[in-house]
Amino acid sequence: MKSPLVSGLFTMFIMYAVRGRLTSSGLTGRSYGRDSSRARHVPVCVWRASGAPALEMGENVDWNDSPEQATFRQEVRTVIQAKLPERYRNMDEDGEFGGWQSDRKSDDPATRQAAIDWANALAEKGWVAPQWPKEYGGAGLSPMEQFIFRQEMAAAGAPAVGGMGVQMLGPTLIVHGSPEQKAEHLPKILSGEVAWCQGYSEPGSGSDLASLQTRAVRDGDDWVINGQKIWTSGAHTADWMFALVRTDPDAPKHRGISFVIMDRHTPGISLRPLINMGWTHGFNETFFEDVRIPAKNTVGEVNRGWYVGASLLDFERSNIQGAMSARRTISELIAYVKSDAGKAKSQLEREPVLRHEIAQAYVESEVLFNFSFRIISMQNRGLIPNYEASTSKLYNSELVQRLARTGTKVFGLYSNVWDGKSQHAPMNARFTQSYVMTVPMTIAGGTSEIQRNVIATRGLGLPRG
Ligand SMILES: Cc1cc2nc3c(=O)[nH]c(=O)nc-3n(C[C@H](O)[C@H](O)[C@H](O)COP(=O)(O)OP(=O)(O)OC[C@H]3O[C@@H](n4cnc5c(N)ncnc54)[C@H](O)[C@@H]3O)c2cc1C
Repeated sequence: MKSPLVSGLFTMFIMYAVRGRLTSSGLTGRSYGRDSSRARHVPVCVWRASGAPALEMGENVDWNDSPEQATFRQEVRTVIQAKLPERYRNMDEDGEFGGWQSDRKSDDPATRQAAIDWANALAEKGWVAPQWPKEYGGAGLSPMEQFIFRQEMAAAGAPAVGGMGVQMLGPTLIVHGSPEQKAEHLPKILSGEVAWCQGYSEPGSGSDLASLQTRAVRDGDDWVINGQKIWTSGAHTADWMFALVRTDPDAPKHRGISFVIMDRHTPGISLRPLINMGWTHGFNETFFEDVRIPAKNTVGEVNRGWYVGASLLDFERSNIQGAMSARRTISELIAYVKSDAGKAKSQLEREPVLRHEIAQAYVESEVLFNFSFRIISMQNRGLIPNYEASTSKLYNSELVQRLARTGTKVFGLYSNVWDGKSQHAPMNARFTQSYVMTVPMTIAGGTSEIQRNVIATRGLGLPRG
């Protein structure tokens, strides 16, 4: 008997083949499920996009938006078209973008203003935190609406606002925080006033996070923290940090950890930049030397922080941004190699096999989209994705690396040009830069080996090694 994962994957590929999108609808790849002229009804089924209950085998899948979903999609598009600041339009071509969080701390007033304007535009609609409940200032969107919202944002290249505060810390406080913690921190995340970073990993603790050693010792009403974190993304542009610290060194390793929050500028916290191989300052080493924070900054129970932190990893798992970004990349590559400028720089005529590679990349980007769809349809039915999210994460991070390789091969020696503004750089050196910048994708957020462990044990039911 086939496992659920294998049959799911198999069905997805079959569905894709049956839909025949590659030949019938061109290679734009942007308007999935919106255009009624492209409605397909396929005689296999795993999930229903519109959020209705699961279908039985043999029923048809309706890939189109329901009328309400179509209205909502149009509303999102209209806001993006009207309000997205010029800086964020065609960001891919510009090439230099550290994200909303770094823009808000930029030395350039126009860049800072773009970050503020975009945050205000989303805040007006309650869309800074689309997934948060309305009572906490979120939009309270259903999983399917969130999916549509993120799909449209990603299709337009519009940056999300609020970073880890919206994605991780906020939802955690909503579940585990005290009333005072919620009242103090949630509004500042929603207004864009405070950005957060994550202090989990340590030099000896990444995949085996529960072995972390940064120590917090109780002293009166305070914790006193000593130790080191590493790979702290955006710590240099963040205002606050959430972290896991060891509060009971004698307990079994998962049971002696607490989840704490702290002002990033508390005396005793220092950063050392880590410059990646794309010459970008994205993450840091973070050092704690007798850092004193109030004990009331503990989220959830003392020594139960592992479970608080673990629930934090469970939010937003559809990976739709990754799927849309892969679609954009491959569609824009295809459009470019068909243009005169692209023909002059591409190797397609000399190396016809590259056309197969592009077609393969196109198929794979659609497979990724279907992984996202699967997860969101599970969430819509109240199911919690488990190995399915690992499958999507694994596939996404390896796909972006393959896309980067394909793009650099397509442009041959032109791919040696790093400077996106050079007239010799095809597509503003996007593939050259992503060839370098996507290397950590298979490490960040859990390595590919760890995802495969999850898929093997929880998805395929294989015995642990
Ligand atoms: C771009 C980027 C941003 C990041 N941002 C943050 C952040 O903001 N905050 C934060 O706390 N951390 C962050 N991290 C850290 C990230 O979570 C860790 O790098 C990741 O969990 C892997 O841990 P490690 O680097 O210690 O590698 P290790 O865990 O030491 O792994 C080394 C190698 O051993 C393999 N391995 C380990 N255990 C197993 C196993 N059980 N089975 C099979 N293979 C195994 C791994 O797959 C890997 O190939 C970031 C990392 C990157 C690359």
